[in-house]
Amino acid sequence: MRARLGALSAATLAIAGLVTGAGAAQADSLPTKHPVAEGFGGAVVSDTAQSTQAGIDILKRGGTAADAAVAVAATLGVTDPFVAGIGGGGYFVYYDAHSHKVSVIDGRETTPRSADGNLFIDPATGKPYDFPTAVTSGLSVGVPGNLATWQRALQRWGKFSLATNLRPAIDVAEHGFPVDATLYEQIRENQKRFAQFSSTSELFLPGGDLPPVGSTLRNPDLADTYRDIARHGTGVLYGGSVGRDVVDAVHNLPLAPGATLKPIEGKMTLGDLAAYRAIDRKPTHVDYRGYDVYGMPPSSSGGITVGEALNILENYHLSSMDRVQALHTYLEASALAFADRGRYIGDSAYVDVPQKQLLSDRFARTRACQIDQTKALPKPVAPGDPYGHGPSCKPGQGSGANGIETHTNHFVVSDRWGNVVSYTNTIEQLGGSAIVVPDRGFLLNNELTDFDFAPPANGTPDPNLPESGKRPRSSMSPTIVLHHGKPFLAVGSPGGATIITTVLQILVNRLDFGMDLESAIAAPRASQRNSATTQVEPAWFDLPTTPGLKALGHTFAIKDTSSLDPTIKIPPDIGVASGLEFRDHGLVIAAGEPVRRGGSAAQVVFPAP
Ligand code: GLU
Repeated sequence: MRARLGALSAATLAIAGLVTGAGAAQADSLPTKHPVAEGFGGAVVSDTAQSTQAGIDILKRGGTAADAAVAVAATLGVTDPFVAGIGGGGYFVYYDAHSHKVSVIDGRETTPRSADGNLFIDPATGKPYDFPTAVTSGLSVGVPGNLATWQRALQRWGKFSLATNLRPAIDVAEHGFPVDATLYEQIRENQKRFAQFSSTSELFLPGGDLPPVGSTLRNPDLADTYRDIARHGTGVLYGGSVGRDVVDAVHNLPLAPGATLKPIEGKMTLGDLAAYRAIDRKPTHVDYRGYDVYGMPPSSSGGITVGEALNILENYHLSSMDRVQALHTYLEASALAFADRGRYIGDSAYVDVPQKQLLSDRFARTRACQIDQTKALPKPVAPGDPYGHGPSCKPGQGSGANGIETHTNHFVVSDRWGNVVSYTNTIEQLGGSAIVVPDRGFLLNNELTDFDFAPPANGTPDPNLPESGKRPRSSMSPTIVLHHGKPFLAVGSPGGATIITTVLQILVNRLDFGMDLESAIAAPRASQRNSATTQVEPAWFDLPTTPGLKALGHTFAIKDTSSLDPTIKIPPDIGVASGLEFRDHGLVIAAGEPVRRGGSAAQVVFPAP
């Protein structure tokens, strides 16, 4: 294990106040992030300054959007390690300027092949494990898909080798990067979990403590892992030496001497890694007011749920409606689409997902006619019948949708040829399983907690139960919108099940309410996922429309973090979005978050004058 925490920068003292919770301070050594950039020749919006810079450097050297995306994703594995990296999985959406087609790659994690419906059933009790037990365990680690996704994307659309595209990330991992307030808080949130594992605490709690803001965090083990991959190919993870270390970490958990938890070990084998494939799929598509909206099909529920909600909304003239009525309709459409998501969507290799029916205008009309413009529907609403066998337009009770909100990352890239990437990837919970693979420098996901642990008690069929080799249902919704056959928007967000509503709300803000992309992203968010209360950000209560929505029967609440460690300030944000908008003559608007999760880093190759 190589030394990681470099000399503290001169800024460290200046920001010591932040470490003790005295408030945000600016360290001049920390790279500046700009949430918005406009210009030409390609663009990147991602979570960190280094990852965005990595993508811009590859674009400047003549790489495609796919090349740059791999550079961004690999660098995020260094600088945003609790939501990204080769220990996780995700969904890659690509617009190819040559063929004018949108394609998608499913790089979601799978269960080990020995898994079955009892994966999360405690044999001692016959009952499901409680959620925190599963979260920090080897059991929830899915076979990772990100590296296979990068390779597949490069095979299809890259100009450079994987080795070339990994170079910027190797550089950042080797030389380090400054810990900023966001990373510091993320480590603090996870401190107790990270302290359980020797490999994790050595990397992220050097000397047993939080690394101060402004200190340099190096990850030479990850630099070496990336070098191995660069030299020998992705097989080092999918069956080779890195894979062996992953399997070992999952079975022989690298517990720290003073560990207080006894996490459950996992089932993954080297054969599971060798059998993993990132899958090319056909994107979901809906036509929304003349825009072609492309998204992610199962194993993600994102494309279908966003698409169904848009189809429902298309039955209304949101732009000319009173804004309270328009937002009421947005919330109700979202609840209805979530009811159908819960009932019908799972990994389509295991479940017969009625995708065509769920995305049909006919079905959307039957759902739209359930919306009462004079009052909010009682929630949860029942799922509809996309096969058209049952009565339509009959509101009722039914299965709700869980909404575990954790974190991931979404980024967007475009290049000089007009290719576009919209890529959401994750290790599921912030910090994943909390297990760093010893000597390899990356965290393992806990994506399998996205399965339902047991079927619903009322006997409703559940498409999202674990099975051998199955992908847990995701909410990730990387989206690309075309207008008259040309890219118009690329957008996405993290946020568990709120991802769907964040993407939907940004699309409605931009396409119906006429906000510019920057404002569409910055606007206060509300997430209605078929439950009695709509989750909102605090600023939602300041909007002039909120009293009117309450009068219609909507109830709103800010995310409740009280069950979490009260010493940890968890901002009640919903999502961390990033997007691109394409204008005439090659002008690109790159926009991310001005504030949420420390703000995004947007850059273009040639800034507009
Ligand atoms: N595991 C989540 C999903 O696939 C994403 C992680 C998150 O953003 O919370 O929907």
